[in-house]
Amino acid sequence: PEVRELLVSRIRDVPDYPKPGVKFKDITPLLADPKAFSTLTETLADACVEFGATKVVGLEARGFILAAPAAVRAGIGFIPVRKAGKLPGATLAESYELEYGSAEIEIHAEDLAEDDRVLVIDDVLATGGTAEASLQLIRQAGAQVVGVAVLLELGFLDGRSRLAPTLGAAPLEAL
Ligand code: IMP
Repeated sequence: PEVRELLVSRIRDVPDYPKPGVKFKDITPLLADPKAFSTLTETLADACVEFGATKVVGLEARGFILAAPAAVRAGIGFIPVRKAGKLPGATLAESYELEYGSAEIEIHAEDLAEDDRVLVIDDVLATGGTAEASLQLIRQAGAQVVGVAVLLELGFLDGRSRLAPTLGAAPLEAL
């Protein structure tokens, strides 16, 4: 509860960004506060240990900032899921629907082994489309998803329900 209070107090609501009517959750004040950032890193690293993760997957771009230090702290590897066209090696790809149009994300398949247990980390779960596609990428690679951890879940968009069929028994953790 104390941790939650500290972290929540460092997230800024930005009205009408990126468009009118949207209230954007901005985590940059949290990143700028070393106490809050290290507390979050420890919480995420604890989740890695708790779930027995062997790899951390971070989702571009803010997911990278949270996932990479957590992976180092937990002593396991970090793997980026990137927007299409950014990874130089052989990739697996997944497309998903956005409010307008669609998006595609990719992963370097060779960095995941079939016996890997993967924790997926991002800053915000909104509709769940990005997280769902990342879970499918990890499955495509043959690895197991042991959980999804996000800093914030926008409950009114119910990404949790969208993720449920793909997540199965694996937990979705949010502040
Ligand atoms: P989704 O695919 O609709 O769940 O959108 C999630 C993606 O959009 C994540 O990678 C987030 O970083 C980003 N996102 C959506 N809403 C917000 C927000 O309010 N603040 C920060 N990132 C957001």
